[in-house]
Amino acid sequence: MYDMEMLSHALVRMDEAAKHLDVDPEVIEKLRFPKEMLSVRLMIRMDDGSRRSFVAWRCRYDDTRGPTKGGIRYHPDASMGEVATLAFWMTFKCAVMNLPYGGGKGAVRVDPRELSKAEIERLSRAYVQAFAGMIGPDRDIPAPDVYTNSMIMGWMADEYGSIMRQPSPAVITGKPIALGGSLGRDDATARGGYYLVKQLEASLGLDGSRKRVVVQGFGNAGVHIARLLHSDGYRIVGISDSRGAVANPDGLDPNAVLDAKDTYGSVAAYADRGSARRISQDELLALECDLLVPAALEDQIHEGNAASINTKVVLELANGPVTAEADAILEKKGVIVLPDILANAGGVTVSYFEWVQNRQGYYWTLEEVHLRLKTIMESEGEKVWAMRSEKGIPMRTAAYAHALQRLASAIEAHGTQPFFVG
Ligand code: NAD
Repeated sequence: MYDMEMLSHALVRMDEAAKHLDVDPEVIEKLRFPKEMLSVRLMIRMDDGSRRSFVAWRCRYDDTRGPTKGGIRYHPDASMGEVATLAFWMTFKCAVMNLPYGGGKGAVRVDPRELSKAEIERLSRAYVQAFAGMIGPDRDIPAPDVYTNSMIMGWMADEYGSIMRQPSPAVITGKPIALGGSLGRDDATARGGYYLVKQLEASLGLDGSRKRVVVQGFGNAGVHIARLLHSDGYRIVGISDSRGAVANPDGLDPNAVLDAKDTYGSVAAYADRGSARRISQDELLALECDLLVPAALEDQIHEGNAASINTKVVLELANGPVTAEADAILEKKGVIVLPDILANAGGVTVSYFEWVQNRQGYYWTLEEVHLRLKTIMESEGEKVWAMRSEKGIPMRTAAYAHALQRLASAIEAHGTQPFFVG
């Protein structure tokens, strides 16, 4: 089987949430293991005429609430255990948002930077050939993830259509707009997080005039959240990327910082303009602020640096940026963490909108996408906040409990032991 260590760490969050609910033990038992995991070896012809093989996986973790949904990542460190864990997270993320989906995930162990564009196309088509019996618009719907993008989704949808002898755009989301992608998918993750913060602003104590923000990671999620908050009057006092960090207590203009990054390769190149100065990655996370947005990688706030975090609220746009040990430290400091399965769920929500539009054959305006996303984020955000207040538990546990209630209702609707023994 696969390395269970990563998954067992993730399961701790479910077990913690279950303590606060009256859930049948059969539900927890069902959610402890993936329903289906397929491992294959993809063989492709390289540009130099040689043949190379790559190991690949697809996991459908749980489909009680609907077809499974989750991205495909291309990464040299991908593993079966990681795929299972990511699929478990997707199960809970879709349930938090009440999307009619279960959770899935896929990966290829490959460093895509070593492959030509044509080789990546062959690899992507080979993936779909291998998993064509597992994926499908009513069964399992992939999307982009680390090192995969909309063009790759377009190739995959095309390959699936060739195998099925008919176009099937709803088999995959995150496609280019010209191939059935949805408007508003580009900034959906950040926008969802932004709507969540706005909805809970007063409860989080962010409604005053001192609204200082630090953003770690300046890619898709980081750039968009900085822009949205900046144009709403928040002051962005620190920004980092993998190569450096810049701070300015008077506020940074995210568009100007992005220009510097695009021109010179890092946000740090923006230092020395006005009172902006270059700082270290550790200093960035310790900056005094009201809202800290980790938007880079997992495990960035850990046992070693959690005590130095100096914020009121953490908005987890990255997946898994705060370790369980750091969670406990932040909780003691009174920091509120808006957890990833809720905070970054705007991305999968607009992916769901793309799937709905593909099936309807009717496409929405950008305003419609924004309004629908806002409605869902606000309503689920309020429910998780209410669960936190009612039970006196951290937001993360509340989000898991909220999701687990929905999963439990679906699993229990098929009948558990008490039903069958009368
Ligand atoms: P991206 O590749 O566009 O950007 C990542 C950014 O993080 C880059 O600017 C990179 O330089 C920076 N970075 C990397 N290591 C860093 C470090 N140690 N310190 C500071 N910055 C660092 O990726 P993205 O799509 O913005 O995703 C970011 C995170 O958000 C990931 O955890 C991803 O899983 C999560 N997420 C993204 C989406 C989405 O729709 N894009 C959806 C859900 C979750």
